[in-house]
Order: sequence, then structure tokens, then C-alpha cells
Amino acid sequence: MTPLQHSNASLALKPVELDASLDLATVTDACRQTGLIGAAINAHADRFYTGERFLDHITFLGCSPHIALQPEPGKTDFTHIVLHQHAQARLYYGQHSRPPHCPHCGKPHADWLNQIEAESMDCPHCQQTSPLFRYNWRKTAGVARTLIEITEIYPREALPQPSLLTQLQQHTGVEWDYFYY
Ligand SMILES: [Zn+2]
Repeated sequence: MTPLQHSNASLALKPVELDASLDLATVTDACRQTGLIGAAINAHADRFYTGERFLDHITFLGCSPHIALQPEPGKTDFTHIVLHQHAQARLYYGQHSRPPHCPHCGKPHADWLNQIEAESMDCPHCQQTSPLFRYNWRKTAGVARTLIEITEIYPREALPQPSLLTQLQQHTGVEWDYFYY
């Protein structure tokens, strides 16, 4: 499996089923219909400014955190949306990812970082071999072919509203879940 490590912090929305077949146009359209995304940032049209309903869909927790939805002078980081689509599933993880739990015995796999190039991992506790996507990543990493990444959001700093996941399902025909990475 191709692991994609990133150094920032993002909230990610992904289909529940790994094999959910979605093209980028369908996902883009769903994000537009729900008002999650606004204008495209790049010509390739996989990066977007947040849409007019973004703050209805994403609830920020805690006391009014500073959230930049537009680039500020002298800064390059601001919250925007990146759409990912790959023919093969990838593991999305980062500095906030925690050891995943084995689907058989439920124990954490401490040596996971050395095994994620493979499609599956051997559990050091029960010796069962399981595909990476079967492991419980506890919302700190995720395996997906299609991903809606919302940048500059730290783990549990913000939550997607259940109504957003429902609307994405209505527009794409597949169920959606979320994680942080
Ligand atoms: Zn195990």
C-alpha cells in the first residue's frame, strides 16, 4: 500500500466502504451541492476555498478558535479543501496518528510504522494477518481511495455535522465517515 504521510493536521471525510467506486467529478459535485466547497484554488481543480455553508457543516469546538478561511498576508496556511482520488487505496496518516488496533485481538500494533508499505500487517500479539484497512485506526489515520481533506484542523478541534455526512451520502450514493490525520 502507498502510505501518504503529511506534516500538517487535517480533518478527512472518506467513504465507509473501501471499495466504494466514486469519481472525482461526483465527489466535487457533492461538495458543491452541499456548499462545503467554494471556488477552485488551482487550475487542476482539486483544491477549493471553503464554501458558503462550510461553517454550518463543520463545528469548531472550544472557545472561538482562530480559523483562517483565506490566505493571510505573509502566511500560506489556511483552511481549504483538497479532494483526493486514487485507483488504489492509500493509507493517510501523519504526526497525530496512533498505533492501530488489531481487528482480531483488539490490541495496539506498536510497530505499525515499519509495516505500512505492505497491504497487510501481522499482529505481534495474536499473530493474525489483517489488511491495513481492517485495523481500527481510531480516527487518527485512514485507508481510502477517495478523500475529502479539510486542512489546518487539529484532531478533535472540529467535528463534521452528521447532516453533512448524510448529505454527502445522498449526493454520492455511499456512506461517509471521518478521521483526523
Ligand atoms: Zn491481534
